[in-house]
Amino acid sequence: MASRRNFLISGAALLAQPVLPALAADDAPRQNAAGRSRLILLGTGGGPTPKANRSAPAQVIIVNGASYVIDCGNGVARQMVLAGVPLASIRDVFITHQHSDHNADYGNLLWLSWAATLATRVDAYGPPPLAEMTRLFLEMNDYDIKTRMADEGRPSLKDLIAVHEIGSGGVVMRDANVKVTAALVDHPPVKPAFAYRFDCPDRSIVISGDTRPSQNLVQLARGADVLVHEVMYLPALERLIGTEPNAKSLREHLLAAHTTTEQVGRIATEAGVKTLVLSHFVPGGTPLIPDSVWFDAVRPTFSGNLIVGRDLLEL
Ligand SMILES: [Zn+2]
Ligand SMILES: [Zn+2]
Repeated sequence: MASRRNFLISGAALLAQPVLPALAADDAPRQNAAGRSRLILLGTGGGPTPKANRSAPAQVIIVNGASYVIDCGNGVARQMVLAGVPLASIRDVFITHQHSDHNADYGNLLWLSWAATLATRVDAYGPPPLAEMTRLFLEMNDYDIKTRMADEGRPSLKDLIAVHEIGSGGVVMRDANVKVTAALVDHPPVKPAFAYRFDCPDRSIVISGDTRPSQNLVQLARGADVLVHEVMYLPALERLIGTEPNAKSLREHLLAAHTTTEQVGRIATEAGVKTLVLSHFVPGGTPLIPDSVWFDAVRPTFSGNLIVGRDLLEL
């Protein structure tokens, strides 16, 4: 019943989506109650091409007023604003892997948040070369940063960012709100690529990042309350790539690096997660594939609570 209701809510979001604030998938919106986690899908379209209907991959988990951003696809700062999440609340940023649909606005999120209200330390976690990317980003924007420091009294942005490069799986961060565990996933040719598990006071949330079916992901997600997993729909993809001269190799590449609708249900079932949230939709552009198509394609292999993700959907 619950999965059907959630599906209907996300379907109803379709018409008014561009102007709606963060939506609640529960009967009552999740509040900032002590220890209660909020998960908001900021962007749900896979791939670097900007899309009319879905922003690029990004999520935020909020616990006790602290925001943990996972992936920084194009538009993440604006999606935070549309979701009503204060930019000054960003505590940590986690990058799953160094593909542009996941990192294009990593620097921009920190820089624009700092230009607004962010004045406290942010720890950034992700695969190499995150440290070099951060350094070069700050160097590229040095003129504006120095100007605002002198003109507006902003603190040094460089001094606010602490970078932690991750090369292998394991616990990467623990604070009073969450424990974050990374697992290596399979997303050739990008290495390393990570999934992250957030053990919050009230529940556990796993973000797959980009991966083909991965046993490491299954282990990481074992018994989790919520699994947000990437997904691609082969029938629509085949129509799209069928006209390409290299259709066969393109298809093989996608299958080697991503997870199909059928596979994602099996992964969630094997991991025993309570709720599977589909995101990073491929194809995710126009014409928009109806929620019912995604739902029906995954349902045969997963009988738990199934949610078709939407930008700004809150869970
Ligand atoms: Zn991606
Ligand atoms: Zn990727």
